[in-house]
Amino acid sequence: MTQTARLLIVGPQGSGKGTQGARIAEALGIPTISTGDVFRANISQGTELGQQVKAIVEAGNLVPDELTSALVRDRVAQEDAAGGFLLDGYPRNTAQVAHLDEILAEQGASLDAVIELSVPRAESIARLALRATEQGRADDTEEAIAHRLGIYERETAPILSIYGERGIVDTIDGVGSLDEISARIADALAVRGITLAVPR
Ligand code: ADP
Repeated sequence: MTQTARLLIVGPQGSGKGTQGARIAEALGIPTISTGDVFRANISQGTELGQQVKAIVEAGNLVPDELTSALVRDRVAQEDAAGGFLLDGYPRNTAQVAHLDEILAEQGASLDAVIELSVPRAESIARLALRATEQGRADDTEEAIAHRLGIYERETAPILSIYGERGIVDTIDGVGSLDEISARIADALAVRGITLAVPR
């Protein structure tokens, strides 16, 4: 069943937001919009955008806000996003929150919920070390990981207070089995009138 839901999933690197985001989006029949995936795909295809952002992404730095927001503006205007979407990795700082507000206001829309996956730092680092050996992502070196976690804490975590003031944040304990965590997210969204069937 497809429901209109505009969601954002936020969490530190290694919190499992990519995995959980994909499950929620699939259960709701909405597309996932992952800026990290878009950048990685462009880098591996060697597009102009990819060449522009390669060094930035590999060092674990943020791509300039204007570039990232322009990309999201185009993506959310596509037909498959008309009935909602799940954002993963955007917005990532307070400037991007303002951009997203503008983008959604143009559509007469707003975010319905922000899912915060909460995971202790030591757990994130352990999961990332595992991902580095399994996937070999160019930005999963120890140095780039520590750098990205620092950016998360300084720049991304503050967006949660903005959304918190709007009363749309659901903080979910991100430690447990994949199914347990999906069930926690589904329960929190149900309170907001967004119902989804996830494996339990
Ligand atoms: P992770 O959560 O492990 O850092 P992502 O796939 O979300 O992985 O992002 C990978 C990289 O893509 C980031 O380190 C950054 O360089 C770039 N990126 C992704 N989203 C954004 C964004 N919203 N703003 C700026 N840069 C971004």
